Amino acid sequence: MNSDAAPSHPIVIAGAGIGGLTAALALRRNGHEILLLERAREISEVGAGLQLSPNACSVLNRLGVLDALEPYAYAPDNLRIYSGRSGNELAHVPLGSYVKSRHGNPFWVVHRADLQQVLLQLVRETDGITVQLASTVQELGPSPYDHLLCTYEKEGALEKLECRALIGADGVWSKTRKLVPGHQNARFSGQVAYRTTIPIDKIPDRWRGDSGLWLHRNSHLVHYQIRAGKELNIVALVQEDWEDETWSAKADRETLLHVFKDWPADVRNLIGIPENWLKWALCNIDATGPWTHGHVALLGDAAHAMLPYMAQGAAMAIEDAAILAKHLSGTTDNIPAALRSFERQRKSRAAHIQGIASKNARIFHFSGVPAMARDAVLKYSNPETLTARFDEIYGWTQDQ
Ligand SMILES: Cc1cc2nc3c(=O)[nH]c(=O)nc-3n(C[C@H](O)[C@H](O)[C@H](O)COP(=O)(O)OP(=O)(O)OC[C@H]3O[C@@H](n4cnc5c(N)ncnc54)[C@H](O)[C@@H]3O)c2cc1C
Repeated sequence: MNSDAAPSHPIVIAGAGIGGLTAALALRRNGHEILLLERAREISEVGAGLQLSPNACSVLNRLGVLDALEPYAYAPDNLRIYSGRSGNELAHVPLGSYVKSRHGNPFWVVHRADLQQVLLQLVRETDGITVQLASTVQELGPSPYDHLLCTYEKEGALEKLECRALIGADGVWSKTRKLVPGHQNARFSGQVAYRTTIPIDKIPDRWRGDSGLWLHRNSHLVHYQIRAGKELNIVALVQEDWEDETWSAKADRETLLHVFKDWPADVRNLIGIPENWLKWALCNIDATGPWTHGHVALLGDAAHAMLPYMAQGAAMAIEDAAILAKHLSGTTDNIPAALRSFERQRKSRAAHIQGIASKNARIFHFSGVPAMARDAVLKYSNPETLTARFDEIYGWTQDQ
């Protein structure tokens, strides 16, 4: 296979999700032609809220995304942590201006669809990036003419095109992962996220302003405002034996209320307001497994899907995109070596944060004595010390 495929050949990115779109912008800045192939026929508004901590915002800022995103973002002043058993506040973690002055970039919460639309708009306005919908990447192989050939399916037919490399940004149920020998499939965690959004004028005042994290036995609840504060995003995380490869499964509110039967009445009342809930199965992909093979590299969830208990899934995909571009400049001759350097630089951080998220999954869902000990530690913690515990995550920039 020729690693010196003509620089005019594009780099193909599979997946116009958060990581794929960010990678397209970052790689284009480094001189590459980009072809972004997205399986969906249209980019529709599926999903709910995403948290963008300062490490993610630092990348988005450099790519000119932050200004365009600002009208859709919300910057909570604090994260308030509550006991789901007693209803009492246990601690608060300052965010807002405190985090911005500490790390130089904001902590924002957004609707995933708003972030995706803003990225897509910028991608469409950028010469040298082409987006093709309804195109599912199948494989990458050598051609008889010593070039790389990417095969993808469009309208039931197989198409082929020459390219320099293939970046698999096709999410947790990635199919490009099979091009990386030794890859693992997504592993179901036994936990399911129920999600909804509600117009802010439909909820009592007590739910507005700060973000909230409620901890209880085998479940927890997160809420924050999105869409410039116009909607409240609610996520209820529960243990449930249900698995499906979809982001848009309808969920049953009564089932959720049953799981939350011994929660405070005002939380149950909040859960009872929206009629429509979606749910999705939470999966892990071991970040220490292989991410690259020859001219193929995985990024984001395809490489290291993690539980959302540190709210870093999107941030890690965004960080990956910036570091991939750093290693893969337009004049790079040896693409496989550049992809391996990308993998080496990113793997330990992604694995570390994946580990923190899995540890949080256990701590958030403690019961009995461990829960009482956790609550006591939180109660006697200094708020700024709690924020400082996230410095290694939030203080990251691509120059490190
Ligand atoms: C529709 C949708 C809604 C989501 N909603 C939320 C949410 O509300 N909150 C949250 O925390 N996380 C959500 N996520 C997950 C979240 O976006 C990711 O965990 C995180 O942003 C990492 O992004 P990623 O780019 O690695 O993957 P994703 O953002 O999941 O993007 C993957 C993209 O690849 C496309 N794709 C898949 N297979 C192929 C293929 N073979 N060829 C071409 N394209 C392919 C998918 O259609 C998708 O657009 C959602 C993901 C999707 C796809």
